[in-house]
Parts: sequence; structure tokens; C-alpha cells
Amino acid sequence: MRSDEYDRLYLSPPHLGRHELNYVHKAIEDNWVAPAGPNIDGFERDLNQYVGTQHCVALSSGTAAIHLGLQLLGVGPGDEVLVPSFTFVATANPVCYLGAQPVFIDSEANTWNLCPMRLREALEERARRGKQAKAIIIVHLYGMPALLPELLEIAAEYGVPVLEDAAEALGSRHRGQALGSFGQVAVLSFNGNKIITTSGGGALLTNNGEYARQARWLSTQAKDPAPYYQHSAVGYNYRLSNILAGIGRGQMELIEERVKRRREIYALYHELMRDLPAVEVGPTEPAGTRSNRWLTTILLRPEHTERTPEELRQHLETHNIESRPLWKPLHLQPLFTSAAVYGGQVCADLFTRGLCLPSGSSMTDTDVRRVVKALQEML
Ligand SMILES: *Cc1c(COP(=O)(O)O)cnc(C)c1O
Repeated sequence: MRSDEYDRLYLSPPHLGRHELNYVHKAIEDNWVAPAGPNIDGFERDLNQYVGTQHCVALSSGTAAIHLGLQLLGVGPGDEVLVPSFTFVATANPVCYLGAQPVFIDSEANTWNLCPMRLREALEERARRGKQAKAIIIVHLYGMPALLPELLEIAAEYGVPVLEDAAEALGSRHRGQALGSFGQVAVLSFNGNKIITTSGGGALLTNNGEYARQARWLSTQAKDPAPYYQHSAVGYNYRLSNILAGIGRGQMELIEERVKRRREIYALYHELMRDLPAVEVGPTEPAGTRSNRWLTTILLRPEHTERTPEELRQHLETHNIESRPLWKPLHLQPLFTSAAVYGGQVCADLFTRGLCLPSGSSMTDTDVRRVVKALQEML
């Protein structure tokens, strides 16, 4: 794809390969347009194989997968779920769907993900109030692996199950093991801006066969085994369509190439801005981890510049370049003013100083240089 000064550079646009249409075409030719079908089975197989999980249920969105995942872990009305404050609201919304309350936990400064010390503090303090958290959600923000050994050890110590929100982290690894395989249940998203897309879609991954069976059942209106329509539980219409799963199959053929390109884009940004003291390109991967570098993010150093991320964003906009603030912490959202929060300063500071840069895998090196040149005009 060619791009010049006048093309709009998007943050993370869909990047289609060559074979999506073959799978979609075949689905239509074979009349497999109903939700079930061979593309669904194939896409689930591809994902299991890539992530190393035993079961995969393809769903209509990542949010739907979080909703079902929390329900499988037993979350219900009045329960508390520990959630990182620094994430997209879709991580926390399903907690509310279930009538439970999110309790927000701050980030640690190295990976920007859940802080183990704050997590322990929250578990202890809630326990003192007679509240055992029903689940912990670990998010790998912008593809960066969270501090998994520390976090999983604490979760196990307190006997609280983990839902791994790997919506941004397909292709990231911890000591060679794919993210999405660490929680009791894990969630992927194939929304249009993610590292691979089905236009809209998600998946629930687990090694627990009973969870997978339940998720399939709940996602297709919870039909009891009877010749007529009989229901004994509230179900949902959450299954991915066989057409969209076809797009997913085509996308999965290219996942490693997409990760490689996103990592190259990050590395080039890093190199080009090495001598700009006002900018820190990061976070840096902890030893033994690989981030998919879904989005390249920068932090401004206030000791070296008076510019704000919003000024940079507006300036990039004059060059027809899209950029976005980092996720606004959930404990600062009007929606969650009454929620409990442990810490909050770390992610609030990241939000104040940070910006996401265009990072789509279809970007050329020239595109990356164009973004850096525009940033340099302000710094
Ligand atoms: C995108 C995203 C989701 C939600 O996925 P959808 O498929 O858009 O519903 C959940 N959590 C995080 C961290 C995300 O980035």
C-alpha cells in the first residue's frame, strides 16, 4: 500500500490478507451462512493451535467473551471483581452486566499493567471487610505482557480465579508461552482495530472442557436438550457467524507476519526518537517476554517539554495523522465515581503524559518517518 503526505494515517486500521475472501466465498457457495459452520470450527482450531489452549469458543465480540467468562467463574449480583483501572472500559462493563462491582487496581510503572503489590493490598483489605473477590481480570495493555508469575501466584494464594483479557495481546508471549493461555479463562478480540480482525468478533479460550461446553451453550440461547424449545437458564445470542469466522481464518494465516511488522514499527519509532529527550518510547519488555506491540505508545517527559499529549495529537491531526490518548483510567470515569480503587496515581500519570501513535501493520517505514517528523516540529 502506497502512502504519501496526503493520505490519512490511521491508528490501527484493518489489514486484510489474500485469503479471507476464499473462506468467505466458500461459506456462501456451500450455503453455510448460519452461525454454525466449518469456518467457525476451523477458526477455533487455528486459535487453539496458535495459543496452545484446548478449547476455544468463537463469539460475537471480546466484550461478550468477558461477559460469559466472568459468568463461568461464578460472578453474580453483589460480587466484587478486581480489575485494572488502566484499561478499555470493555474490560469492566461485563462486571456491571452481571450486577457485580469492579474494584480498581493501579498499574506498575514498568509494564503499565496490574501492580502485584496493589493487588495483594486489595485482596487483603477486601478480605478484612469480609469480601472475598470472585475473580481477578489481568489485562495485557497494548500487547505488553503483565507480570504473570507474580500476579498468578498472588491469585492462587488467595484462591481467586483469573480471567485473562488478552484482547490486545494475541501474538504476545511470556517465556515462549502465548498470552491467552494463562487464565482459567481468557478472552481475545477481533474488533476492527485489533492485531487481527473479523470486522467484529471475539473468542473465549480455556483448558476447562466444562467451561467451554457452558460457554457454547450460553452463547446460543441456552437450549436444553429437548426436541422443542426448552430453556432452564438465561442465554445469549453471542456466537460468531460462519462468514466472519472465514475472515478470521484468512487473518490467522498471517498472524506471525502481523506481529513481526508491528514490532518493526515499534523498533523504528524507538530508533528515530532516541535522541528526543522529551519523548520516551515504551514500555520496555520485561526479560523473557515478547509484546506484539499492538500500539506504539509514547510518554512525554515534563522536565524536557511543556507540550501536552493533546497538543501533539492536534498537531498530528493537521498532518492528517490519527493518534489517541492512552486509555483514561476507569477510576477517573464518571461511570465509576463510586467504585473502590487501590492506588491510582501511576495510571493517572501515564494518562496525563501518554499518546498512542499510528501502528497498523500496513504502515511503511516512510509512514513512520512522517509521524516522527511531525512530532519533531513540536518537540
Ligand atoms: C478491544 C478490547 C476489549 C473488547 O473487545 P470487543 O471485541 O471490542 O468487544 C476488551 N478489552 C480490551 C483491553 C480491549 O482492548
